Amino acid sequence: MNDIKLALLGSPGAGKSAVLVRFLTRRFIGEYASNANSLYHKRLSIDGRQLNLEVFDPCSQSSEARCILEEPVDWADGFVVVYNISDRSSFINAKNILRQIRETRMDNCKGEVEVAVCLVGNKQDLCHARQVREDEGRCLAQENHCNFQEVSAAESYQDIANLFTQLIRQVMDHLKYR
Ligand code: GDP
Ligand code: MG
Repeated sequence: MNDIKLALLGSPGAGKSAVLVRFLTRRFIGEYASNANSLYHKRLSIDGRQLNLEVFDPCSQSSEARCILEEPVDWADGFVVVYNISDRSSFINAKNILRQIRETRMDNCKGEVEVAVCLVGNKQDLCHARQVREDEGRCLAQENHCNFQEVSAAESYQDIANLFTQLIRQVMDHLKYR
């Protein structure tokens, strides 16, 4: 059984928990605990391989990316960095988080190890209040050599399922689970 560790990162309220719960349960509940770190476990099978997925969903009390980042950046094999397309500040924060992931992982691993990251623009259903254009998200992802997907945890499951599956495949490639 292969273990895959993912972490969600992003501003409080960006929808990290909503995106994760949508992936794990296919449901959108609306309100999510924000006062504690949560570690979710799920067994799943991708491309015929059995996986033990662990996902870290940090508590949203701290808006300090540095503080949120310290532990998961060393622990995780892959990251889902979430911002809210109707909140510009969450996009700026995502940009800082991507930089910190790169810096931390390069320091730790002498620039050799690749890390799987997906940048996610959530709350696509709020496009009437959009503050971040889709191409800005795509550009930021390209600059950081990571995947990109706009999603709505509130309205749809499939995009979220796809991005997690793709990210897990990348992690398996990096870890050479074959
Ligand atoms: P977190 O702090 O990043 O974990 O954010 P949450 O997952 O707790 O979500 C924060 C708020 O945004 C909650 O009230 C959610 O119901 C709401 N929310 C999350 N995803 C979406 C979405 O796709 N669309 C809309 N309209 N609201 C969302
Ligand atoms: Mg949360």
